[in-house]
Amino acid sequence: MHLFGLIGYPLSHSLSRDYFLDKFKNEGVEDADYQLFPIKSIDELPALLRQHPYLVGFNVTLPYKQAIISCLQSLSPEAEQIGSVNVVKVQSVNGSFSLKGYNTDYIGFKESLRDLNLSSAHSAMILGTGGAAKAVAYALSELGIACRFVSREPHNDEELSYSQLTSDILSSHQLIVNATPVGMQGVGGELPFSYELLSSNQILYDLIYAPAETEFLRQGRLHGCVTKNGLEMLYLQADASWRIWNE
Ligand code: NAP
Repeated sequence: MHLFGLIGYPLSHSLSRDYFLDKFKNEGVEDADYQLFPIKSIDELPALLRQHPYLVGFNVTLPYKQAIISCLQSLSPEAEQIGSVNVVKVQSVNGSFSLKGYNTDYIGFKESLRDLNLSSAHSAMILGTGGAAKAVAYALSELGIACRFVSREPHNDEELSYSQLTSDILSSHQLIVNATPVGMQGVGGELPFSYELLSSNQILYDLIYAPAETEFLRQGRLHGCVTKNGLEMLYLQADASWRIWNE
């Protein structure tokens, strides 16, 4: 029996279990299960590992993508550079656990851009500066696409504040990515973003997939932009996790 799972809190909105159980069924994977582990503190991880000796790999979601790093024995170079882990491979060594962390959010995002026909001639704007934003920036840098972060409180001169987003600055970025949790089911809120400055040749990508259309994407659609939510990215990062667990 091989057990996989997801840690985070809360997990009531998660689609990961359904996705993996469908995958196991469709691909004829036997003796495997994927469970949700809603833990209220990362300190619960050692007990969880002891309780589930068949756990060979797990995904990590909010709010533990950074906190998990101090629990790991090693990190992939990409996860180290991004500073965020959403996949852990568990290896049992002489009765104790060895955990290695990876980032597949950047792979999911990068692969999900295929149908958008972007090139290095394009440039991107990323709203938010958290782990997901850094994974998006990493993916874009691999594709040679320049990007700038937009933050409520810029950390340096390279980052823009929302109030600096004039129509000139906005129109020089073809891809605008919402990498904040604003608009997510159970989170809500509104981005301090001037939607009236959008033009129809822009692409709005929201990493959020629940709801399927956030206010950010609705405004993009109303302004004639191409829009995309985070569902394909979710599936692609899950497939990349599966490849890592089976390496
Ligand atoms: P996070 O660390 O909680 O927040 C990311 C950033 O959003 C923060 O650093 C902050 O940047 C900005 N932010 C937070 N609250 C805000 C507010 N009220 N108004 C404006 N900006 C705000 O989240 P994360 O882990 O990076 O994830 C971000 C989103 O991506 C989540 O909705 C997550 O579910 C989604 N995601 C989806 C996938 C997928 O597969 N589709 C994968 C990963 C993440 P500043 O302080 O600099 O403004």
